[in-house]
This record gives sequence, C-alpha cells and structure tokens, in this order.
Amino acid sequence: MFDFCPNEEQKLMLEKATEIMEKYVYPNEKYMVPHRGLPNEILKPLQEIVKKEGLWAGHLQKEVGGMGIGFLSLGLLSEVIARSPIGPYVFGSMAPDAGNGEILWHAATKEQKEKYLIPLANGDIRSCFAMTEPEVSGSDPRMLQGKAEKDGNEWVINANKWYTTGAVGAAFAIAMVVTDPDNDPHHRTSLFIVDTNNPGFEVVREVPVMGDHYPGGHCEVRFTNCRVREEDMLGKRGEGFKLAQLRLGPGRITHAMRWIGVAHRCLQESVDFAQERKAGDKTLAESQIIQNFIADSEAEIQAARLLTLQAAWRMDQGDEARSEVSIIKFFGAKVLNDVIDRSIQVHGMYGLTPNKVLEGFYREARAARIYDGADEVHRMVVARQILKENKQNRLGRGVTV
Ligand SMILES: Cc1cc2nc3c(=O)[nH]c(=O)nc-3n(C[C@H](O)[C@H](O)[C@H](O)COP(=O)(O)OP(=O)(O)OC[C@H]3O[C@@H](n4cnc5c(N)ncnc54)[C@H](O)[C@@H]3O)c2cc1C
Repeated sequence: MFDFCPNEEQKLMLEKATEIMEKYVYPNEKYMVPHRGLPNEILKPLQEIVKKEGLWAGHLQKEVGGMGIGFLSLGLLSEVIARSPIGPYVFGSMAPDAGNGEILWHAATKEQKEKYLIPLANGDIRSCFAMTEPEVSGSDPRMLQGKAEKDGNEWVINANKWYTTGAVGAAFAIAMVVTDPDNDPHHRTSLFIVDTNNPGFEVVREVPVMGDHYPGGHCEVRFTNCRVREEDMLGKRGEGFKLAQLRLGPGRITHAMRWIGVAHRCLQESVDFAQERKAGDKTLAESQIIQNFIADSEAEIQAARLLTLQAAWRMDQGDEARSEVSIIKFFGAKVLNDVIDRSIQVHGMYGLTPNKVLEGFYREARAARIYDGADEVHRMVVARQILKENKQNRLGRGVTV
C-alpha cells in the first residue's frame, strides 16, 4: 500500500527547498539569459548554498555527491524546485546532465566515474547525449546509422547527430552508434564517451528550436573519423539500446515530476492574477468560466501528480514500471501544456509578455510531447500492454496496490 504523505525527513527536505526557492531562486529568475540560463557568477553561489543544505543532485547516489533519496522523494522535491525555470540548475538536476549522470552511475568503469561522473555530479562540467540522427526516426533508435568501426585498440566513429542538447560548452558527449550492424536490432549499438576536444568531434550549429531554457543549445554535432580508445566504450559492446533505455526510464519520470512543479507555479500565478484583476465591478476569480479553468487545472495536476508518484513508488520497489512511466509521459505532458495554456488565457496579453514566467514555460512545454518518446509512442506502449493483458485474461487484475 503506498502513502504519499511526506514523512518527517521528507517534510524537512521540502521545507528547506521551499525556503531556498523563496529566498534565492525566484528573486534571481530575472537574470536568466535566453538559451544560456543563469550567468555563472549568479548560479555558482546559489549552487553552493544548495550543496551546504544537502539538497544537491537529488537524482544521484550519495557516493557521488547526490542525495540518494529514491524516486518518490525525488518526485516530491522536484515539484518544489521545478516551480522556477532556473530551479533544476540551482539544485543540480538539469537535463541532460541528470540522465547522463544516471547512466554513468550504472554503466561506467571506476576510471570513467572518476574522470567524468564525479566532476559532472559536482556541477564542474556539463555533458551531452548524442543519439538522434537527421536521417532516421528518432523515435526508433534501432534504426540508427552513425557507426563506430574497430581499428586496433581504437574505435573510429563517423556519425551525424542532431538535437544534442547542451553540446556547446559540454566537456564530453555520450554517443550512441552502430558497432555490430549484423546483430539483431536491439544489439547493434554501443555507447562511447567522447571528449568534446577530440579533433574528430564538431558542433556544426545550434539548431534553432522553440523554447529557451537550456544552456548549450540543441545542436547538430558531427563525428568525423573520431578516434576513441577501447576503454572509452560505456558499458558493454552491443548494449547501447539497453543502456539508452535505462537512461530514458528515470529521465522520463524526472521530467514528469518537474512538470508538476511547473504546472503548480502556473496555476498559482493565474489564481493570484484572477483574484486581483477586475473585469467590470468583479474580479476575474468571481467569473464561473475562470473558476472552471482553475478547477480543471487543479484536477488535472492532482491526477498527473498521483500517477507520477505511483510510478515513482513502483520504481523504488525495483519495478521498471514501464507502462506507468509511459502513461505519465504522455498524460503529464498534456496536463502541462493545458495548464500553462489556461494560465496564459487568464492573464490575457500580459501572459504572453516576458514579465511572466508563463510564456517561457509555454514555449518549453510543447517539446515535452516529443522528447524522450513522442506521445504516440508512449500511448502505443500502454495500449500494447493492455492488449497483452487482455489476451492473457489478466486485464484489470492486481493493477494498483
Ligand atoms: C527539447 C528536445 C531536446 C532533445 N534532446 C536530445 C538530446 O539531447 N539527444 C538526442 O539524441 N536527442 C534529443 N532530442 C530528440 C528526441 O529524442 C527526438 O526528437 C524524439 O525521439 C523524436 O524523434 P524525431 O524528432 O526524429 O521524430 P520522429 O521519430 O521522426 O517522429 C515524428 C512523429 O511521428 C510520430 N511517430 C513516431 N513513431 C511513431 C510510431 N511508432 N507510431 C505512431 N506515430 C509515431 C510521432 O507523432 C512523432 O512526433 C531532443 C528533442 C527535443 C524536442
């Protein structure tokens, strides 16, 4: 039986996080630079405060400087820190470093952990993940074409990748490329860690994409006769698909957790505005239509929150929770988009100005229905599971607690 009421330890964590948000994070939102995030002279001191309070990198284990709190606590914490677009940066849990940190934790050798994971976890360097290619559907990594060929003790990578988030300024990339083209589709690819100062690695351009919160852009990158050592393979040969899934599973739930915080913030902003703004002799909040907006948003946020915490709880029990994670990926993304949309509507044109966080959140939110698996793919995962259970006469049995 799960219970999502925070225990004493979680309450303390949430109180401390809320205090930091109010004292240091919201007041610094105005310094955020589009496409670049917060300047280091503002960001670094804030990160030090978070580290001192023991709230740094909730997604990572204690051994590498994280909190080691599990998915459920991470979900509760993410709701608080994601209420600001700069929250995840200040608390050391921003994409794509969070996902890369998790994959390194699971698959890296001792040497790779020391060289890459420790400075990444500490926020000293940034990283990127190069999987999606212009030529093939990003939704199906079994179709990747970029390849690495063995040459003595080295691998030679030739690949075009795009939408590689954070590539400008990253210290290293994790590249997913074909090493064994004749294997079955799930065992054709491997992962490599590539230093971005490798002469064979090149950031071709930042692809202009709607939304502006990520430092380092969403880039087209190219690997041209890029030589890496045998020891730079991450995980085992042929494990690329499996490890990418391992990265994406927790990544998806982390996104969904963050979206709850964003949606809460937007609802809060619209309620504040509706209670102040007058139309005729009444406030907007007195209008039935605006009340419907508020009620619908609250109901949807609560539903997405419970689904997310349930998936987190299952993952803490060691379950992959594949179907649950897919549900929150497409359902959570829809709730996020709808709640922000209503909040903007309540504000009128003011909601579209940069004086409010809403328009920035809105531009970011559209991508949520595409990255880490488009809605359609996640719906397919859920539907296939239901169809399978029905064939086995298991549908509806033992689904929840
Ligand atoms: C903000 C953002 C950041 C990103 N960061 C990274 C990154 O750091 N590294 C990286 O490698 N990639 C990154 N990506 C790329 C992302 O992983 C891909 O965009 C995603 O996997 C979808 O692939 P695609 O864009 O090639 O669309 P396609 O796979 O070509 O799909 C196009 C559309 O077809 C439909 N579709 C696809 N498959 C199916 C199906 N099986 N059934 C029904 N309909 C289907 C969906 O509607 C989908 O939206 C990022 C994307 C975004 C938006």
